[in-house]
Amino acid sequence: MWPRTYRDEVWSQITTANERWDLIVVGGGITGAAILAEAARSGKKALLVEAQDFSAGTSSRSTKLVHGGLRYLRQGQVFVTRRSVKERERLLAEAPGLIDPIGFSLAVFSNDPMPRWMYGLGLAMYDALAWKWAHERQSKAQLLARIPALRGSTAVGGYRYVDAQTDDCRLVLRVLEEATRQGGVAINYVRAQRLLRTSDGTVRGVAVTDTAPFAPSRSAEIEAKVVINATGAWADDLRVQLGQKSRLRKIRGSHLTFASSRLPISEAVSLVHPRDQRAIFAVPWEGVTIFGTTDVDHPSLDEEPAISASEFEYLLEAVHAAFPQLSLTERDVLSTWSGVRPVIGTGKSNPSKESREHALWKESGLITISGGKLTTFAAMARDALIAAETEIGALKPRGPIFEPIGHDRDHPPQWDWPSALNEAQRLRLVGRFGRDATALAADSELATPIPHTVALWSEVRRAARSEAVVTLCDLLLRRVRLGIVLPNGGLDCIDEIKRIAQPELGWDNARWEHEVAQYNQIWLKAYSTPR
Ligand SMILES: Cc1cc2nc3c(=O)[nH]c(=O)nc-3n(C[C@H](O)[C@H](O)[C@H](O)COP(=O)(O)OP(=O)(O)OC[C@H]3O[C@@H](n4cnc5c(N)ncnc54)[C@H](O)[C@@H]3O)c2cc1C
Repeated sequence: MWPRTYRDEVWSQITTANERWDLIVVGGGITGAAILAEAARSGKKALLVEAQDFSAGTSSRSTKLVHGGLRYLRQGQVFVTRRSVKERERLLAEAPGLIDPIGFSLAVFSNDPMPRWMYGLGLAMYDALAWKWAHERQSKAQLLARIPALRGSTAVGGYRYVDAQTDDCRLVLRVLEEATRQGGVAINYVRAQRLLRTSDGTVRGVAVTDTAPFAPSRSAEIEAKVVINATGAWADDLRVQLGQKSRLRKIRGSHLTFASSRLPISEAVSLVHPRDQRAIFAVPWEGVTIFGTTDVDHPSLDEEPAISASEFEYLLEAVHAAFPQLSLTERDVLSTWSGVRPVIGTGKSNPSKESREHALWKESGLITISGGKLTTFAAMARDALIAAETEIGALKPRGPIFEPIGHDRDHPPQWDWPSALNEAQRLRLVGRFGRDATALAADSELATPIPHTVALWSEVRRAARSEAVVTLCDLLLRRVRLGIVLPNGGLDCIDEIKRIAQPELGWDNARWEHEVAQYNQIWLKAYSTPR
């Protein structure tokens, strides 16, 4: 998609274009990516700048659920839930293999203050909002038969329902791919440093700086009819340049990852923390089990968010209560990760009680969209662009986000697949790589799974060759998620990664060693267990 020279090419396009852009999107998480795609689909001349790597903000650090958020319903946030389930259904239909259904066992424990019937009522509403009936009551015996790992806990039964999950980074990349296919331009490692304004104070563009390591020191001023601030948890940074008051409350959520052999669950489990009855999920994902999350105020966005010792203990306490017979310890944790939710602050004492609804502000011409969820990205993008219609003209009616390639969940495209790949592997490749899936599958040397993962070695080659990788962190944390699914951040197989990726990236040995050292440092600090 993006050859090795692409950043230089985009940079010269940015700096030499004498025509103004229709819009500049600041922020390359899921919200910004979707705005770029939707604008490009409507024929607008659109540019996206991302200060770090695509999805490196919150959009690589979610629980990877595409869901209505049952717990938001419990807090009375019916509108958020209704909108989310609608988006979930749409995404499930549009991108099988990228957004897939996942069964949930909701476990009710003997000390749960909420009576079981209330969960049933909540799930009935949850299904009704999506116009379907997919939940059922589970006796204790049924629950334990489905999730034997819960044996020995105080679970007394519960419910079963269906939601959906994705790979958040691949979702961002796939949306960006759609955007660029339709003429949108996206560049990573370019920070919008400052807003440019006309004499009457209206925002007319951004001053940007190249932040890529090893790139030439360069900056530029870029003009557009409208600037959209899709910087998530960072959104106040641009707004305060206009004299606006900060509105966001930054709330950190952290996860633990276990090998599925140590925490085996055939489907997701929704449970409550024994200490404060907060909802926690254990979710099978890409061959591992994810466990999270927390909700704590996060002081500063200057550094990589990382799990604290108290969050780590809090999550382990819930693991022990739910899965006591597995005797999981700190040593079983493969990796951790933390993300910062952009939440519109209303001063609630408990961060979990803040609404997950998104907000949109138009201030001196700057449109800011923040808050919300991964699940609602397409609706958020649409809202932001509708607010920009005065400046950029009418949009096309809402259409598909992903180019239809004529397949559905039960029928992956009948392309020329190698026989070694089963239906599930084919569907996963189509979901993540669209029409390029067969090229990955046809890489006869590398179309084999990376041990202990569901990813193929050919995904490493593709990412290094054409997915805008600037640092080793981009490759191992966000393109192919080895940094979270393998022990030791995947460094045990770094020689094989080097053999495949180094020639594609064009890094000499000194640069490679530097990248490995940097990666190891970041992984130990932000993706490992707290020291
Ligand atoms: C722990 C956790 C779990 C979650 N789980 C789920 C879930 O399971 N399902 C769900 O639906 N939602 C979930 N969410 C919410 C969801 O992840 C976020 O709502 C979503 O990812 C936000 O996307 P975004 O694009 O708005 O922000 P981000 O992904 O943070 O993107 C903003 C980007 O802007 C960039 N940026 C900042 N300043 C500048 C600048 N000056 N110039 C250029 N770029 C800039 C940043 O580098 C960043 O990449 C979760 C969130 C957290 C924290």
